[in-house]
Amino acid sequence: MNIKELLTKHLGKSISQASDGETYRALLIVVKELSAQKEQQGGKKKLYYISAEFLIGKLLSDNLINLGIYEETKKVLAQEGKSLSKIEEMEPEPSLGNGGLGRLAACFLDSIATLGLNGDGIGLNYHLGLFRQTFENTLQKELPNPWIEKESWLHKTAVSYPVEFGNFTLHSRMYDIAVTGYENRTNKLHLFDADTVDETIVKDGIDFDKEDVERNLTLFLYPDDSDEKGRLLRIYQQYFMVSCAAQFILDECISKGCTLYDLADYAVIQINDTHPTMIIPELIRLLTKRGLDMDTAISVVTHTCAYTNHTILAEALEKWPLSYLKKVVPQLVPIIEILDDKVRRKFSDESVVIIDQNDIVHMAHIDIHYGFSVNGVAALHTEILKKNELHSFYQIYPEKFNNKTNGITFRRWLIHSNPLLTQILDRTIGQGYRQDADRLESLLHFRTDKSVLHSLLEMKQENKRALCNYLERTQSVTLNPDSIFDMQIKRLHEYKRQQMHALYIIDTYLQIKSGKKPSTPITAIFGAKAAPAYVIAKDIIHLILCLQELINHDPEVSPYLKVVMVENYNVTNAEKLIPACDISEQISLASKEASGTGNMKFMLNGAVTLGTEDGANVEIHERVGDDNIFIFGASSDAVIRHYAKADYVSKDYYENDKEIKAAVDFITSKELLSIGKEENLARLKKELIGKDWFMTLLDFQAYKAKKEEAFKAYENRLAWAEKMLVNIASAGFFSSDRTIKEYNRDIWKL
Ligand SMILES: *Cc1c(COP(=O)(O)O)cnc(C)c1O
Repeated sequence: MNIKELLTKHLGKSISQASDGETYRALLIVVKELSAQKEQQGGKKKLYYISAEFLIGKLLSDNLINLGIYEETKKVLAQEGKSLSKIEEMEPEPSLGNGGLGRLAACFLDSIATLGLNGDGIGLNYHLGLFRQTFENTLQKELPNPWIEKESWLHKTAVSYPVEFGNFTLHSRMYDIAVTGYENRTNKLHLFDADTVDETIVKDGIDFDKEDVERNLTLFLYPDDSDEKGRLLRIYQQYFMVSCAAQFILDECISKGCTLYDLADYAVIQINDTHPTMIIPELIRLLTKRGLDMDTAISVVTHTCAYTNHTILAEALEKWPLSYLKKVVPQLVPIIEILDDKVRRKFSDESVVIIDQNDIVHMAHIDIHYGFSVNGVAALHTEILKKNELHSFYQIYPEKFNNKTNGITFRRWLIHSNPLLTQILDRTIGQGYRQDADRLESLLHFRTDKSVLHSLLEMKQENKRALCNYLERTQSVTLNPDSIFDMQIKRLHEYKRQQMHALYIIDTYLQIKSGKKPSTPITAIFGAKAAPAYVIAKDIIHLILCLQELINHDPEVSPYLKVVMVENYNVTNAEKLIPACDISEQISLASKEASGTGNMKFMLNGAVTLGTEDGANVEIHERVGDDNIFIFGASSDAVIRHYAKADYVSKDYYENDKEIKAAVDFITSKELLSIGKEENLARLKKELIGKDWFMTLLDFQAYKAKKEEAFKAYENRLAWAEKMLVNIASAGFFSSDRTIKEYNRDIWKL
């Protein structure tokens, strides 16, 4: 049957008579059936990618693309008077991730299936996700984000495991989501849940009883951990995830003939950041329960598990008090003590122990000692791990360390999100790049081809117009598509330095007020969620929203400068924003952004990066060359030296630079105080002058100078189009297909 017949059968009426909602649900069922018909399992050895987050985004269109029926479906719907993009709007975005780390896991699942590799994801089925962000009176407000509807991508399985906690046992339930590969096999994302979880216990925003674990366990991703109850809940979640995963993996391997001694021939477990670390002691526990002696169990697990490090920020490398583990998972404590004891017998270096003198358990240290691979996520990041953050471990295990520079799936971030660019590429270089991203390079042959350069400019302009319409409709803001679209969309964190961008906007505002107008108008677009308990991050959002209010309503300024913060930044928004971007802001403090993947999505869509020499920006710079990127700021070495010597004093920059002082002082000007809250604005200003842990003021002038250079370059439209072209042509390396081939070649060996 063709798509039209399948849809009509499920609808029980003609497509033209169905509502968009009914059509969406019929398509969902048809796609689920078609995915299930693809090749599923196969191969003795399997990868299990375990992650607390899978930021998968909407699935309908990507599945249609991967199944090879996107164009046909679009045509059939159009014939029946329906628009696929309207139907896409019916789909809720699954809310199973927070930011880059979760989106990476989702891109990886796509590439694993596309490359035909035997590998599944394992995670948790959060009912209310991270949170949905709204803005109220220039402040972020958090609301639950329910996304599971009666008809959804989830398939309820019969798989269930008991999970024992200190004082009770919970029974899990496994749900599966099909992961389609591009014209290839279908894999699975297994999401564990508990039938006892109850959404009605959530009251007033995202508040709920954190101690009612049976009912709250899988409600939210990253429940507020600013108090002990919240931290305990995270351990409950983590253990629930890894205990289910471990039982599931052992069951699958045994069913294929594994003796447990040869587990590493059947399974490789990629631990995505430290959240799933407890799978190591849990597997050891289960193996010893099934008859292996302790040393053998440890050796088997060490040969099965590999760890990915995503950050050098100390606060993100998880450390749990032993007392918490004793309370939640007492059965793991003796095993963790044995793991620590073995380390202590072998090494005298206190910095590599698992349980430190204060009885704090260092989760990453378990991964490094008892896994066979440790990888960073960009070349610079891996070098910093080896030289600085994890240097003592690198000395012990140099052979374990390796780099896997992140990537993104081009199915979602090009073919789906930017059909106009896809058409240009198909027309100029053929479709080969869809399977082999390196072929994008052949676009360089058109570097001086004016008609191709003009078509790139038209593509961008059209995408900008579409974004203007969307933002007008959803946020009632009117933007000028002829202005420069300058975007910073990513989680809000001080190290990413949205506050530096905000200071630049203040500086520009003050300049316009004094009569100096930018020659091309500028639209600064932000999108960012702040963790609910991260006070300064929320203050930065408040500042940006106040600037938006002030600037957009000032008739003297708004023709030249506009500011908009997009509400509830998520994958769906990103797919609309990125194709419309001119300048991609990647301005983290050098050494602090492990890789970034937003930078790759922007580049692929023809935006030019304005950034520091940090994370994967370094590798983008290498590929596009000095002329096609705008790099500024202190180097990572210089920054690391500043931290080591503790010699950066933000107050000196504030006091000695008139422009910096004026911009910082403006945070508590009468103009902004008439819009915003004094408490929040004054706190942020004080933080910048008194601390500025991420050295905003250090790089401010370099940022400003480089940004003005970029704006100037934008005015020569053909020269800018060439920069766009070089960026697109150089993006092939950042396909997650390349990343996954490297993981498989060096780590998984499937
Ligand atoms: C890609 C992506 C990110 C990661 O962005 P960075 O700029 O690399 O931090 C975060 N959130 C969403 C929704 C994304 O699509």
